[in-house]
Amino acid sequence: MSTEVVATSVVSDAQQQSPSAPTQQKSVEKVNLLGMSRPQMEKFFEDMGEKKFRAGQVMKWIHQFFVTDFAEMTNISGKLREKLEKICEIKAPEVVHKNYSKDGTRKWVFRVGDGEGSLVETVLIPAEHRSGLRRTLCISSQVGCALDCSFCSTGKQGFQRDLNQAEIIGQLWMANYSYMEDVPVLERERSVTNVVMMGMGEPLLNYDAVLNSMRTMLDDFAYGMSKRRVTLSTSGVVPKIDQMVKDIDVALAISLHAPNDELRNELVPINKKYPLEQLIAACQRYIAKDGNESSRKHVTIEYVMLDGVNDHPEHAQQMIKLLKNLPSKINLIPFNPFPHAPYGRSSRNRIISFQKTLSDAGFVCTIRQTRGDDIDAACGQLVGQVADRTRRAEQWKKKVAAKNEILRSQG
Ligand code: SF4
Repeated sequence: MSTEVVATSVVSDAQQQSPSAPTQQKSVEKVNLLGMSRPQMEKFFEDMGEKKFRAGQVMKWIHQFFVTDFAEMTNISGKLREKLEKICEIKAPEVVHKNYSKDGTRKWVFRVGDGEGSLVETVLIPAEHRSGLRRTLCISSQVGCALDCSFCSTGKQGFQRDLNQAEIIGQLWMANYSYMEDVPVLERERSVTNVVMMGMGEPLLNYDAVLNSMRTMLDDFAYGMSKRRVTLSTSGVVPKIDQMVKDIDVALAISLHAPNDELRNELVPINKKYPLEQLIAACQRYIAKDGNESSRKHVTIEYVMLDGVNDHPEHAQQMIKLLKNLPSKINLIPFNPFPHAPYGRSSRNRIISFQKTLSDAGFVCTIRQTRGDDIDAACGQLVGQVADRTRRAEQWKKKVAAKNEILRSQG
């Protein structure tokens, strides 16, 4: 099945979040099963008068064998398959652009609604690891973002809307499917090994959809991922970090980017609402709840290296002080400049010396390898380019139409 066959539209948020009995559905508007978590799908089947174990069976077909046609679900009775065919569908968001880099990085731009700006991107980065090949997928949670971090290309696009569950899980589904497209259904496997909720948008500001999607990632009837391999990355929505402690056990990453409030207020404006002291305390509570659980032994600290802005030796010293009571691993990210970016990338020497200061103080500190440079690796960059191309194509079409009109009127 080609990506063109996979998807052309997505059902409404309300339909995705609160699946209701099929009798209440309009005949034209099918229920998209792709994004439903297991409890939601079980309820859906029960409301339909079916046994709830059917939900697990269907979920396996969708998320483990990447099937979108009910006719291929061979352990489901023909009668039920027919019924599902009439009222349901399995639809990932439409792929409008895909790019596979020479280094194995894969990137997709999905359309998630009408309008030229309704685009999100997803990137998959492979890496050799001592446990084998890792394929880490960076998933978007919103179209644009309201938080306007000053170094972020997505923030410059403004906020448009939250993604629904089908649109979030659809990114993982499509990345897995991209490796299995030509493999017979019953031989298909899940290829993505790790997920980071670190694409476009602030995932904790789209809490319910992200939570249910992460539950599907962990579910043995779906992707069956280990909780250590699903990471939620936040810029610091403190109350929601506390909520997560109650709701789910996954790894936590913080987009820190500055070691003091003054600089962080500038780079990550949500810091004005939840300053560093509150943020670090919330991280400590996250760790404390389940200190023995491997997913919660530490927090990952993301720190983008901006030339002359946050990369001075005193910033490294401030980091040491700030993080001294928080079990953490630090990931230094060389900045990937985008057009009109107000910052540049720190020099290699600066980054290495920053890393050495932190490592000497006892922190595990890594430098993220820049990957997929040939396909625009910085979050939000590719969407900008695809949107530009779409705009240019539309402007060109209008010009041609106007010219034809003039020619017609001139006889
Ligand atoms: S860095 Fe994350 S939270 Fe900040 S504007 Fe970009 S997408 Fe939003």
